[in-house]
Amino acid sequence: MPFFEAHDDVFNTYVLGNAPLRQLATGYAWVEGPVWFGDANQLLFSDIPNNRILRYVPGVGTSVFREPSNYANGHTRDREGRLVSCEHGSRRVSRTEHDGSITIIADSYEGKKLNSPNDVVVKSDGTIWFTDPHYGIMTNYEGYKAEQELPCHVYRADPARGTIETVLIDFQCPNGLAFSPDESVLYVSDTGTMFDPDGNAHMRSFKVDGDTLTGGDVFHVVDQGKSDGFRLDSDGNIWTSAGDGVHCISPSGDLLGKILVPETVSNICFGGRAKHELFITATSSLYSIILNREGIQRP
Ligand code: MG
Repeated sequence: MPFFEAHDDVFNTYVLGNAPLRQLATGYAWVEGPVWFGDANQLLFSDIPNNRILRYVPGVGTSVFREPSNYANGHTRDREGRLVSCEHGSRRVSRTEHDGSITIIADSYEGKKLNSPNDVVVKSDGTIWFTDPHYGIMTNYEGYKAEQELPCHVYRADPARGTIETVLIDFQCPNGLAFSPDESVLYVSDTGTMFDPDGNAHMRSFKVDGDTLTGGDVFHVVDQGKSDGFRLDSDGNIWTSAGDGVHCISPSGDLLGKILVPETVSNICFGGRAKHELFITATSSLYSIILNREGIQRP
């Protein structure tokens, strides 16, 4: 059975014919937020409805990393290698220090509670950019149903200055976000269709100039499902979740190919010994595939 679909010839050089998609673990409710720790040879990912963060160690298997997890969703690492997490249940972004203690990065804006931070990225200057849609407070499935106090915005927190600012406000449900390799472009998806069938379902791109974002045109619309989460490879291709697998989008917005996954994909990250393994969280399972690509994996 084919495990990929090339929509451009170059995609045939990105996949390896003898490196198929592998299901690493299954039996979860809805997994998201994979983040790779090369220094610990482990992947962390969230099983959101089960309120836990799981750990996958190649050759060993999975175990529980943190439970309860405050219904954590997206994760990344800051420039010092610390885990940065979006938590639906506590409606905050947190940082896990090297000694295991937790620091709150952001839990409110102008005196109002955040909704349910969803996904997060750290820029090279140490600022923490995150999306704050309302998914985690609309129902009790992935958090605690609660009243929405703020619109669904994209924020930038600067732990060095103790500030939190809105950077993008014209979204329905901002979700995944990632910078291009040189940080000159910020990609943000808008997945407004979960509670509104006519809502936005696209990825937008913004030119980054210091603290200023311009542009914001629709960059790409996946032809199946949603761009929930995505990461970039070292050539600036965007590898995004979609309804039928992982889609690879060129920096000019063209679909180059697809990794076909039998479950709806939520998010991905690169990892492994050469940053060439694509870890895929998809509904109830964790998958991976080795690619002939190198992901941007910081630090
Ligand atoms: Mg997400």
